[in-house]
Amino acid sequence: MSKPAPALYWVRRDLRLSDNAALRAAAEGGRPVIPVFIRDSLAEGLGTAPQWRLGLGLGHFAEALDGKGLRLVLRSGDPVDCLQALVRETGAEAVHWTRAYDPDSVARDKAVKAALEAQGITAQSHTGHLMFQPWTVETRTGGYYKVYTPFWKAVRGLAVNDPLPVPATLKAPASWPDSEKLDDWRLGAGMRRGARVVRPYVRLGERAAQSRLGAFMASKVADYGRARDAVAEDGTSCLSENLSLGEITPAQCWHAGRRAMEEGKAGAETFLKELVWREFAYHLMWHSPRLLTGNWREDWDAFPWNEDARLREVRAWKQGRTGVPFVDAAMREMYVTGRMHNRARMIVASYLTKHLMCHWKIGLEWFEDCLIDWDPASNALGWQWSAGSGPDAAPYFRVFNPETQAEKFDSEGRYRDRWIAEGRRTATETALSYFDAIPESWPISARDDYPEPIVGVKEGREKALAAYQGRDF
Ligand code: FAD
Repeated sequence: MSKPAPALYWVRRDLRLSDNAALRAAAEGGRPVIPVFIRDSLAEGLGTAPQWRLGLGLGHFAEALDGKGLRLVLRSGDPVDCLQALVRETGAEAVHWTRAYDPDSVARDKAVKAALEAQGITAQSHTGHLMFQPWTVETRTGGYYKVYTPFWKAVRGLAVNDPLPVPATLKAPASWPDSEKLDDWRLGAGMRRGARVVRPYVRLGERAAQSRLGAFMASKVADYGRARDAVAEDGTSCLSENLSLGEITPAQCWHAGRRAMEEGKAGAETFLKELVWREFAYHLMWHSPRLLTGNWREDWDAFPWNEDARLREVRAWKQGRTGVPFVDAAMREMYVTGRMHNRARMIVASYLTKHLMCHWKIGLEWFEDCLIDWDPASNALGWQWSAGSGPDAAPYFRVFNPETQAEKFDSEGRYRDRWIAEGRRTATETALSYFDAIPESWPISARDDYPEPIVGVKEGREKALAAYQGRDF
């Protein structure tokens, strides 16, 4: 009997062995599997921190594959050309991948599928990045959901596939095609800030993600309802980074959350609801990709946003020098750790778009460059929600007051002290590490005085409200 031809497993944002339908499909029937990652224009277009984090993830996943007797083949270029070349070189008869949902990836994947199928090659996408396919969840009238709560009600009782185990055996091909070298790609080269400072905060790879999920369910989820807003506490799952690169799946998190709920752990349902916010963001992005690029509510196009990212106020916001401690602490947290607490994200986004009246796209792009958990859908929804221009958004008159928010969610000032060094007799190590992370071109030092607010909290709020109220949109 002739040996089965190999299959290509096209690796994208699914850096895991477990719950990986694409990998399993490639391996079906004992076929040899050739995993390949393609550095295409979409990978090259990632922000600096997401690209750096992708490089770490790929290196780690290559080791995991190696442990299974496989190699991660690396190629650069147009995916159609790269996959066709690999098909020719290896005799592969099928290509499998995990489905993506952003418009650029969808267009790319359609072109790949058409080109491969025209050659008689099986080209198949698989689920995994989401629990609920965006086109399967419909309102009673057959439309898509624009408000979160009805979306949650529509999906909370739906069956979520049980996570798949790691394939017991994976077969290597008789010979491996050539591969480029990950180090040569220099995916971290664009990091303006000290990658060395950010690195200890990275939770890298599938095993680390699973172990965090286990620990979170064992000791933190019960109190999640309260702790998820306490910015100085380690009270949330911190799995967004791993979800973003598919080092863990939402289904794995969902089932762990359901088990915790059955065990009577109080915060578990709130955790499930947060996972569904991620699904909702994808649902919206799929049905109205404009979410990524323009005001979802088109009447907001007439709003007089400041759109110049070079403004002094924007620079102060990015550098954590607005003179508003909660805002500055949060911006520095992101710069040092590559992450920012959810409550803090809402506050800095409200401050930029309302107190400073800057376009949300300026903030979206800065996050896209700085976050190691960057996610196209959640980032866009988060920004449009905060600005008021999105579906199911915070109403325009809801302007977060960063001072009262600090009193409520950082009453002892621990978060502030963790991230702000100026003006403190003894600054914390984390606050000082910010100055190791920033580029030399930022003329700021821990010895500077802490700045006066660039805009008064009350004055900024009133100015924003006046602009909103006088709006003719
Ligand atoms: P947990 O509280 O443990 O929640 C579990 C998971 O649920 C998260 O990992 C995440 O996947 C999902 N989730 C939680 N809150 C939200 C939310 N509000 N929207 C969508 N999904 C959510 N999240 C990203 O993953 N990437 C981004 O680029 C991103 N940008 C944001 C920008 C702004 C302006 C705002 C307001 C929010 C943004 N979020 C983003 C959502 C949220 O802040 C993060 O998902 C959350 O802070 C991640 O921390 P965690 O993993 O500990 O979450």
